[in-house]
Amino acid sequence: MQDHRRLGRELELFHSDPLVGAGLPLWLPRGAAARRAVEDYLLDLERRHGYRHVYSPPLAKAEMYHRSGHLPHYADDMFPPMALDADNAFVLRPSLCPHHAAVFAARGRSYRELPLRIGEIGGQYRAERSGVLGGLSRVRAMSLNDGHVFCAEDQVEAEVVAALAVMREAHRALGFAPSSWRLSLRGEGPKYVDDPELWRRGTAVLRRALAAAGVDAVDGPGEAAFYGPKIDIQVLDHAGRESTLATVQVDYHMPARFDLSYVDAGGARRRPVMVHRSAAGSMERLFAHLIEVHDGAFPAWFAPVQLEVLPVGDADARGFLGRAGALGLRVEESHSGSLSARIRDAARRRVPFVAVIGAKEAAEDSVSLRSRDGSVAVRPVAEALALLEAACRPRKRDAVPEPSVSV
Ligand SMILES: [Zn+2]
Repeated sequence: MQDHRRLGRELELFHSDPLVGAGLPLWLPRGAAARRAVEDYLLDLERRHGYRHVYSPPLAKAEMYHRSGHLPHYADDMFPPMALDADNAFVLRPSLCPHHAAVFAARGRSYRELPLRIGEIGGQYRAERSGVLGGLSRVRAMSLNDGHVFCAEDQVEAEVVAALAVMREAHRALGFAPSSWRLSLRGEGPKYVDDPELWRRGTAVLRRALAAAGVDAVDGPGEAAFYGPKIDIQVLDHAGRESTLATVQVDYHMPARFDLSYVDAGGARRRPVMVHRSAAGSMERLFAHLIEVHDGAFPAWFAPVQLEVLPVGDADARGFLGRAGALGLRVEESHSGSLSARIRDAARRRVPFVAVIGAKEAAEDSVSLRSRDGSVAVRPVAEALALLEAACRPRKRDAVPEPSVSV
């Protein structure tokens, strides 16, 4: 695997500007196109699994993070509060959880609404020290593929299993497999919420869910969130370093801190449990991994440019370009340089499909289509477009994406 920072620069996916600041990457148009395709896929996947999406602001009153426990337990990783006036201090949020708890609390809830699955791809911030920042893998501002399930105690195990299933489907579609699974447990010290019964229940339910999902996980003492144990899905980078990409967490703490409740079948007020989960992690860390694991050659459905059109001589490719664009394909045209140089350049940029249109093809209403795996075929335009559209569509459900598609 190559370092994603080098590939990101060569493929013009993202950029760091010292004036913007370290750990605050800019997504260039090509990287942004790939990310948008992945975000659309993840939101659609979650909708199919019963999630409803919200938007929430990336900052909130400091008081909210006192309540959640972030300021007492997690302040070292947070940007300092910004005082607006004597009564109001705001912080850039270190997580979306409290905002989603506020979505749950927006009105009275009945047991009939549970499990209530709330999702968002939203910004969160971490006050990383300059020395540890690099590329997309350690940043100060990130967009998290986040979700919170509010459920009854007897629904927790099934919801954790369901979250693991969503995650596996996402990872297959994105074309990678975790290096290991970790059950992250409480360690020593004041970092953790002090409530032994809460830790015992949370750990037991995660162990049962892992067994039900048929997953072998290694124990990771001292790796839990401050409010509860979690299952972490680990991946390796180009240097063999392991990091957490996706996670599922059980939390009895925050629902109590925010006094969340629902009315059960007998009319009694009950406390929901919060399952925190991220199927694909932050877009930043996800793409650091995707760039390395695919060597920049993303599956066609999220390739920045899916089709490069190369006209030869005076051939007019505008009709073909227009039809490909109308199908929603990300298509570009290249005129400058010899045909072989243009084909080499498209290959260097890992473009999955190249269509060459010369005088002969234009006269026959055909294109010479070549794919990243090296296969070449002359096909009628309508047939080529149907093939491209199918190859560039995100895979649904259990279909496994092919690393390359032959033409
Ligand atoms: Zn959360």
